Amino acid sequence: MGKVEELLNSLDAIIWEWDVQKNRFTLFSQQAERILGYPLHQWETGSEFWVSRLHPEDREQMVAFRERLLQDKPEQALVDYRMVTADGRTIWLRERVTVVVENDKVTKLRGIAMDITEAKEAEERFFKAFYSSLTAMAIITQDDKKFLEVNDQFTALTGYDRDELLGQTAEELDLWLPSPDRAEKLEQLQGQGAIREWEKKLQCKDGSTRDVLTSIVVIELGGKPCLLFNLLDITERRRAEEILRNSRDALELEVQKRTADMEEFVYAVSHDLRAPLMALEGFAQALLEDYAERLNDKGQDYCRRIVSAARKMDQLIAALLDYGRLSYRELTLGEVALDKVIGDALQLVGAYLSERDAEVKVSSPLPKVVGHHSLLIQILVNLLTNAVKFTPPDRKPKIQIWAERRNGKVRIWIEDNGIGIPKEHQERIFRPFTRLHPETEYPGIGMGLAIVKRGVERMGGKIGVVSELGKGSKFWIELQAASDLPPSVN
Ligand code: ADP
Repeated sequence: MGKVEELLNSLDAIIWEWDVQKNRFTLFSQQAERILGYPLHQWETGSEFWVSRLHPEDREQMVAFRERLLQDKPEQALVDYRMVTADGRTIWLRERVTVVVENDKVTKLRGIAMDITEAKEAEERFFKAFYSSLTAMAIITQDDKKFLEVNDQFTALTGYDRDELLGQTAEELDLWLPSPDRAEKLEQLQGQGAIREWEKKLQCKDGSTRDVLTSIVVIELGGKPCLLFNLLDITERRRAEEILRNSRDALELEVQKRTADMEEFVYAVSHDLRAPLMALEGFAQALLEDYAERLNDKGQDYCRRIVSAARKMDQLIAALLDYGRLSYRELTLGEVALDKVIGDALQLVGAYLSERDAEVKVSSPLPKVVGHHSLLIQILVNLLTNAVKFTPPDRKPKIQIWAERRNGKVRIWIEDNGIGIPKEHQERIFRPFTRLHPETEYPGIGMGLAIVKRGVERMGGKIGVVSELGKGSKFWIELQAASDLPPSVN
């Protein structure tokens, strides 16, 4: 065996040469025996043996292919086809044929055939999944971006027939609406060979648009790099989300409007209730003063109760009016020095603090915030009063005030050593008329924190509490730091 022949035989491919005139193979590498299983001498009978071993479904087409080679005389041709092996298996060959022409006549065909059965089977499995996929899928070639294959879901989604798509590019069909992140995504595809869940807008044949989540991966098909598109139609999902968002906004507006109406009503009623209440208190007081001798002890007791109930009710109405006013009042926010606010608030509650021998520590200097000076004083007075009020009578109240900066915000803390608040009530206590204790234990009407919360919110801030029953409470309010104000407001 010659050197070249030895080399040919060692290749993992079948190498052959067919003499057209003699109608027989003049070369057939030994690999054929290994790949196809037929002893080499069988091929010597001529090309009829080859024809007889072609897979029945490919036979006609391959005979025609050979005819075309002889007639058209292309330099080279590439073809995939099936053959049946000696033990009855079907194998796929990919064959490159070179056409040798002498005096305008084809004298020889030379071929090199590789066994691509495994790759073909994998391809078949892939196409099975491709055609039966529940999502729309398409394959385009990477170099000229033409549609190579689409599944039924894809034609149903786009409205184009398969024939209208194959051989065309998405650009020619205006299939994609421009997307702002296109360049970034294509770069990702190039770098990573895949894009996951890219939200794009698809324009269908009838001009309607669909929202799709698109995944793209680079794959190789028949030796060519291709892009596999996988499209999930999320138009309905997006539509439902939008409807939900709109109805939520509408509901929110409606609730706001109704709350405002309700509050206005409460405000007006509260205001009007005050006059008859004053009369009630005044006349009961007059009875006590001018007709005391005509009333026995029980009668006088009843009158005193009327006076005290009327005063209590007046307090409630006053708090309601305060709360209401806080909602309607025009507030101009500006830079507020917390040190000054705390100083003013401490002065206002000074008498109450000394009555309870309370100790207050302020970590000055405190930063400046965006707020409303007198409203902040009112808020701090309420929080300081509570801090002392909700410390058991036999304990010396100790209050600490400090502030911390958090991303352009300032959080002011007011910590006490009082009775604490159980976790489950920590949200409720900010609602109007919410109290956790009977009046006899700790006096009050339950409006203090509601006013504090409303006030903080009107200044664009937030409020909260960190506490554990029996271990004191830490109330905080968070406001915009003054340094973040635009120059015009400063
Ligand atoms: P009031 O002080 O009139 O009861 P608030 O609205 O100020 O009303 O407070 C509501 C409830 O929250 C109080 O009744 C109390 O139970 C609880 N609370 C408020 N501040 C404190 C505090 N510093 N420590 C413990 N509990 C508190």
